[in-house]
Amino acid sequence: MNIIEDLNIDGVEILQKEPLSKRTTFGIGGCAKVFLNISTIDALKKGVIYLNQNSIPYMVIGDGTNLLVTDKDLDIIFIKLVGDFKEISYFPNHNSQIVTSPLYSMEGEDSRQPESPTTHTEEDNFAIIRVGAGVKLSDLTKDTLKKGFGGLEKIGSIPGTIGGACLMNAGVRYFDISTYIESVGVIDKKGNAFEMPKESCQYSYRESIFQQTDEYIITHANLRLVKTDTTPLWDVLIAGIEKRKATQPKGKCAGCFFKNQNNQSSGKLIEECGLKGLSVGDAYVAQEHANFIMNRGNATAIDVLRLANIIKEEVRKQKGANLQFEVRIIKNE
Ligand SMILES: Cc1cc2nc3c(=O)[nH]c(=O)nc-3n(C[C@H](O)[C@H](O)[C@H](O)COP(=O)(O)OP(=O)(O)OC[C@H]3O[C@@H](n4cnc5c(N)ncnc54)[C@H](O)[C@@H]3O)c2cc1C
Repeated sequence: MNIIEDLNIDGVEILQKEPLSKRTTFGIGGCAKVFLNISTIDALKKGVIYLNQNSIPYMVIGDGTNLLVTDKDLDIIFIKLVGDFKEISYFPNHNSQIVTSPLYSMEGEDSRQPESPTTHTEEDNFAIIRVGAGVKLSDLTKDTLKKGFGGLEKIGSIPGTIGGACLMNAGVRYFDISTYIESVGVIDKKGNAFEMPKESCQYSYRESIFQQTDEYIITHANLRLVKTDTTPLWDVLIAGIEKRKATQPKGKCAGCFFKNQNNQSSGKLIEECGLKGLSVGDAYVAQEHANFIMNRGNATAIDVLRLANIIKEEVRKQKGANLQFEVRIIKNE
């Protein structure tokens, strides 16, 4: 078996010794021995069948905004969904026409104006939006607002991709992505592609079935958004972005390290334990927000984990609370 030769198929780009520190917002991680950019569903099916038949561990990486990756090199095959997985399609209510977005240059602001949506009749008040797992939530939010569909403006400032958001059930207070999900498109380990209705995804606060099993790769999500005047909704999106700038530290991190506790803010608990500024190596607890563990520059995964465990222990002793990691730890099996 030679993975590099065997996976040299259409729709798969193979990178070797890919530094994961460059693929995560923590800026931490060893190299992936093999990193696959996969751009079509056919290639993904073939890849997944091959990897499973040969019992080779693999995982999908989105934008790496919620990951702490081991300092060692990784045998796990990393899969990044690109190409066809970055498409957005609109299925207006009572209307079989599909509007496919021009492919955004997903890396930054797109200077082109998207096509205008199809003509809507009076009774058309929502659309099902099929969005590829590789699309950034922030790009989707802007696209939907431009096309006159509201809803995502509240969560559109969360970094990361749709695949990551659907697995994490990413959200802000009172709203998470599952609020808008109708179904999630997946492929299973045998390469079967199908739609999982929302009820089967077992969504709750930062939880989904996709965290409980590695059976599925998320290929896309179908969201239901309301047609409305989106002019005021841009302000909601911008306010969310501004609030982050004002309240969250700038630098290398993975957002909130711990989940909140039954509506109790973990950041507040950590702050009340006097842990702001505590550090291990180059990892430290941010002054601006105690639930953010930051990488000052050369922090290792071990530094971050040591610090996280000190925080957990201190909060348990002082507050009796059992903090749970929100960040996902990635290491060799
Ligand atoms: C500054 C900052 C602020 C943040 N604020 C918030 C916030 O307000 N609310 C919030 O909920 N989160 C927040 N986060 C965390 C993070 O943005 C979210 O969890 C996000 O949804 C992760 O998306 P991602 O594409 O980066 O996923 P990754 O971090 O790459 O991956 C996360 C998990 O999803 C899995 N995954 C990704 N794509 C797929 C796929 N297609 N199929 C199967 N599994 C997949 C990965 O294997 C991994 O287990 C923040 C992070 C940062 C850095």
